[in-house]
Parts: sequence; C-alpha cells; structure tokens
Amino acid sequence: MDNSQPVMGFYDTPMWQSMEDCKLALQSCDDCSHVRYPPAPVCPVCLSEHANWKPVAGTGTIVSWVVFHRQYFSDFPAPYNSIAVRLDEGPIIITQLFGTPPEGSWIGRRIVLGYDEHAGRTQHHALLA
Ligand SMILES: [Zn+2]
Repeated sequence: MDNSQPVMGFYDTPMWQSMEDCKLALQSCDDCSHVRYPPAPVCPVCLSEHANWKPVAGTGTIVSWVVFHRQYFSDFPAPYNSIAVRLDEGPIIITQLFGTPPEGSWIGRRIVLGYDEHAGRTQHHALLA
C-alpha cells in the first residue's frame, strides 16, 4: 500500500506552494471576484481568463463528513475522517478534522484551517472554531 499523493493538474502548483507557506491561496477572478476551486483556466461564472491567487481567511463551515474504517493509503491509517468545508469565500474543499470530533452531526460546525507536515508535504486540516 502506497502513501497518498497530491493530484497535480496544469493549474494546481500555486495552490500547493501556498500550503507549503501555511496560507492556502485560491484563484480569485479579476473581473467578478469569484473565488474558485479546483484551479481552472477560466472563471466558471464570467468566463474571464484573468485571475490572481489570493490567500483565503481559513474559516468555513462543515457541509459533509465521513469516517473511513478501511485503510486506502499507508499514510492514513483507519479510522480517519474526511470533511467537506465550505470556505467563507465560497468554494468547498476536502480536508481532515483534527482534535475531538463533535457530538452528533458535524454539519454546520464552524472550523479554522491549520497546517501540518504529512508524508513529506504540508497540507491543511481543520480544527473546530
Ligand atoms: Zn469571473
């Protein structure tokens, strides 16, 4: 079983570099300010090709969650969780909730992003706010 690996598309490198700096940055459209994820060559709202990478606030709300009881990668021993977070800027990202999990449903809980070293790279995780 291998470690997980980042998926590197044509437009992903600046995002992974921003995580190495512990400040997640996403593309922000120069023409309509839409913040998008995953990285893409054009804005899905106005089709502009002009965008800049801007750091996100690092806050958001859990919109879905799951606990995996089967191990898929050597660097994620089961059980481990995965959460979908709607960042305050709008995009939904997938990350892992660290710390004591909430009682009952996790949906609607506020989080803040943190960063950790994982399998030779820096990646984000979430902590309950
Ligand atoms: Zn746009």
